[in-house]
Amino acid sequence: MTADVLLFLDGKWVAGSCGRSLPLTNPATGETAGSVAVAETADLDVALEGAGSTFRSWKNASPVERGRVLRRAAELLRERIDEIAPVLTEQQGKTLFEARYEVNATAESFDWFAEEARRAYGRIVPARAEGVHQLAFKEAIGPVAGFVPWNFGMGQAARKVGAALAAGCTVILKGPEETPSSCAFLVQALADAGLPTGVLSLVFGVPSEISEYLIPHRTIRKISFTGSTAVGKHLAAMAGRHMKPITMELGGHAPVIVAKDVDIEPVAKLMVGVKYRNVGQVCTSPTRFLIEEEIYETFVETFTQMAAAVKVGDGSKEGTVMGPLANVRRLEAMEALIADAVSHGGKIRTGGKRIGNVGNFFEPTVMTDVPLEARVMNEEPFGPLALMRPVSDIDEAIEEANRLDYGLAAYAFTKSAKLASRIAANVETGMMSINAVGIAFPEIPYGGVKDSGYGSEGGIEAMDAFLVTKFVSHTMA
Ligand code: NAD
Repeated sequence: MTADVLLFLDGKWVAGSCGRSLPLTNPATGETAGSVAVAETADLDVALEGAGSTFRSWKNASPVERGRVLRRAAELLRERIDEIAPVLTEQQGKTLFEARYEVNATAESFDWFAEEARRAYGRIVPARAEGVHQLAFKEAIGPVAGFVPWNFGMGQAARKVGAALAAGCTVILKGPEETPSSCAFLVQALADAGLPTGVLSLVFGVPSEISEYLIPHRTIRKISFTGSTAVGKHLAAMAGRHMKPITMELGGHAPVIVAKDVDIEPVAKLMVGVKYRNVGQVCTSPTRFLIEEEIYETFVETFTQMAAAVKVGDGSKEGTVMGPLANVRRLEAMEALIADAVSHGGKIRTGGKRIGNVGNFFEPTVMTDVPLEARVMNEEPFGPLALMRPVSDIDEAIEEANRLDYGLAAYAFTKSAKLASRIAANVETGMMSINAVGIAFPEIPYGGVKDSGYGSEGGIEAMDAFLVTKFVSHTMA
């Protein structure tokens, strides 16, 4: 099943101009799983030429036509799901179930943006004199550079590409070098759906070289990045120097506030499922569990038993619930964060170690007694680690939730409507889900505050990122 993934330039799949490529690794076996082509400056120039030269015609294409391409691409992705999902699993490690979910979610994103294409409404402003029309149009901002990470290569790309194409922008997508087929399948579906040549290019290579070339380039008018806060701040500064707007979807350290009035078992069951999804390599992954002390011990014990029972294995095998970490960097990061937490007095309730020495498998881990000074209480673990902390009341939980500079997702569980609204009003977060997990659908806003970034990649807000307002005053001659 190994794939040799090429660049998509000028409507064709091509090797990089210097013929360089990088190997792909299956994180479940450690075996080579194909290669990905590396773009050089000459290749980026081809992508820039395409994005620049086709911008005006794509922007002026009927929004109904732009929507038709997106809708057809969504259909193609659904038709191809049996071919796509195993490759996502092979390159990233997620289970086949999760891979199929991602393909379907990508198709849903395209469906949503296909409809939004024709709703980029402007407005008419009453004029001061007769015979004057004052019109505020929304129009496409220009060619976009989109940077997509490896955890949800297809789903994250769909949010950027779907909204940008719907708005009338052309796009150069920098895909994830470790999981490149995710973006390649998406681009192929759009090409097969009739997207004109040059409107969308796909490149891979050395991320810093590509961003340093594309972001300042005068053809590029908008940047959209998903990844770590550290890289995001670096790219935001670069974009600022060149007066380019940027959408930033960065890391998180999601708090989960658990009030003493909840039914413990269903809450623990739900949160175990969400915590260990994609091995915790999810920016909205629940991480700091802030539990009222009256139920702390029972909640921790229930959660721990369920976590220990999560079946870890090759994501392509039937029955696997949690696959391997996506790369060796994450394995090393988990080991370092846990060792640091233990050295600060943290206790491992379950897990805490790598499984075997083939593939990047790691035990579903639960820790208690980790002091706030430990690195993991401050840095995004991005792995299968849940941190449990008792709180004396909900105000203390809100304080702890807001202690970090992250503000992406937050979760809360309580039967009290009053408490729920106090939590929703006071936790500093871009997304809050109470008594269920209801975030990340294409029709709802998706994004963070504080160090988790700015801008939204879902809902009607997602289109705004790719539109500018143009005012036209038209006096009748
Ligand atoms: P990293 O910080 O090196 O890279 C994160 C992402 O940014 C990758 O996709 C990478 O290709 C890209 N990147 C790095 N330097 C870049 C540059 N100069 N220009 C453009 N793109 C650049 O770390 P990593 O090991 O790949 O990922 C681990 C960390 O990244 C995690 O701890 C997590 O915080 C974060 N992350 C977040 C998300 C998310 O969904 N928000 C996704 C993936 C990774």
